[in-house]
Amino acid sequence: MAAQAPYSSSSDSKRLRILLLSPRGPLYRHRTGIWKKSLRYAPLTLTTLAALVPPELNAGVTLVDEGIADVDPQAPNADADLVGISAITGTAPRSYELAAAFRRRGVPVVLGGVHPTLLPDEAARHADSVVVGYAEQTWPQLLRDFVAGRMEARYVQEPGLSLANLPFPRRELLPSSNFATVHTIEATRGCIHRCEFCVVSSAWDAHCKSRSPTSSPRSATCAPAV
Ligand code: SF4
Repeated sequence: MAAQAPYSSSSDSKRLRILLLSPRGPLYRHRTGIWKKSLRYAPLTLTTLAALVPPELNAGVTLVDEGIADVDPQAPNADADLVGISAITGTAPRSYELAAAFRRRGVPVVLGGVHPTLLPDEAARHADSVVVGYAEQTWPQLLRDFVAGRMEARYVQEPGLSLANLPFPRRELLPSSNFATVHTIEATRGCIHRCEFCVVSSAWDAHCKSRSPTSSPRSATCAPAV
């Protein structure tokens, strides 16, 4: 396991730097993928994770979506104290490749998303910590634990998560000019059906959650102007 450094949550002298990555996959990738800008709606995963960073940590957060930019783990702007990678199955090989590169540099890596949720033991072989399930409660807890030097190997969302009163995604952290729109909103999450070819019910246990009618549109209107 990579070393964890202690951080002060009240001082700027050593500001925690968090790098959040959405790796490319066979279809979703920069320049050569089939998802051209006209089809590329800004995903909410990274911007939501950024919004969930506890304010008292005073962390600097950088997002890189490999649908619009490449990640070079050796580049100076890839310097980070903690890397979080969100992976689906199609992006898992690239996620593990990036995780290995950062861990070779001594940077701890957290893996989460659909693929680590379905195969946490596999993901654990490539990460210092794995987030299983939705991250609204576990990700802030992981960060507080990391700052305290006691990050655990696995964080699992308990049943019964409410989507009420969640912070608005930090859309301003993604370059709006690279997307058809950054005003993506979340109305529902999950699905009550169990189509045998679909991953949704396997990953999220055939439950459907809804955002309140006021929070989702408000989330959209709170987005910065393009
Ligand atoms: S289980 Fe999957 S494919 Fe079936 S209705 Fe739900 S989301 Fe659609």
